[in-house]
Amino acid sequence: KTTHSIRKQDEYNVWCIFTKVANNSPMKRKFERFAVSLISQSTVVIKLHLIVDDSSKTLAHEVLRSVKKLTNKTFEEFYYNVNNLAEKLQDIISSMQPHFSSQPGSYYSDALFFLSLGLHRIAKGQTRAIMFDADTRILTDIALLFQEFEKFGSSTLFGLAPELSPVYRHILYTYRSKYKNTTFGDPVDKGGFPGVNSGVIMFQFDNIRKSEQYSDLLRPESVRNLSSKYDFKGHLGDQDFYTLIGMEHPLMIHLLGCEWNRQLCTWWKNHGYQDIFDDFFRCEKQIKIFHGNCNTAIPN
Ligand code: UDP
Ligand code: MN
Repeated sequence: KTTHSIRKQDEYNVWCIFTKVANNSPMKRKFERFAVSLISQSTVVIKLHLIVDDSSKTLAHEVLRSVKKLTNKTFEEFYYNVNNLAEKLQDIISSMQPHFSSQPGSYYSDALFFLSLGLHRIAKGQTRAIMFDADTRILTDIALLFQEFEKFGSSTLFGLAPELSPVYRHILYTYRSKYKNTTFGDPVDKGGFPGVNSGVIMFQFDNIRKSEQYSDLLRPESVRNLSSKYDFKGHLGDQDFYTLIGMEHPLMIHLLGCEWNRQLCTWWKNHGYQDIFDDFFRCEKQIKIFHGNCNTAIPN
């Protein structure tokens, strides 16, 4: 029998981006469902770090007041202005944008989708954290996901679950026709690497900060070289870059089980991949986190 003693580094930092939200918007309701599911089941005191704009901050604070009443639980909340962070991380954003944006021209518009890549520079004093999309719903005690940090190796930087659609098979079409034996773009069940999804991201900040290799990878030339090596043109922001890192430097990424980010989007099933979609989408584990991506409803 082991007892899990609380050490200094056992901080339970949770990050979430909550911007461009209007009152009565679906995003506000999604965030409320996320926050209630996180706080109500947690056996540990959560520090909730929210990346917001001015009007979304007011809404987030209002949601969290009701979460506090509903759950009667203690948690801490901290707010960060999205424009402020985008400015601090503009070197990373401009490295990534040409390769992983749907509209590479519009400078600040999708900065938020790249912030996770530089979070170690923002989260000063934190040794580890987990970031969640607001369109997730947690079905278990989040302390169990923090225990997954124990499985990280000395060079592991991030923990992410597999992408459960063939989107990277699609993006890697040219690379895959050049390298017929590659397993990049194959489903996990077939021994492949389908890429990763950034709806749930674990950060081992101390490893990230001391990795010269990682800071090197963020440079514009490195991102250009990596994208060109794999003939990779993405549109999904940070998760495109995590997917490339997962191919080039697999030890940097701990692959979580699909149960920790059970995506629900079935868009690719009806867009050319009907025959193999289920090989990607299948997740036979007991689900711990639902992710209603591409606006998909989450079951109750
Ligand atoms: N997000 C936000 N405001 C926006 C769009 C996105 O705060 O206008 C945040 C939110 O946390 C959201 C995440 O960014 O969950 C990623 O976007 P989304 O979940 O819509 O993408 P998907 O998972 O469907 O690809
Ligand atoms: Mn999402």
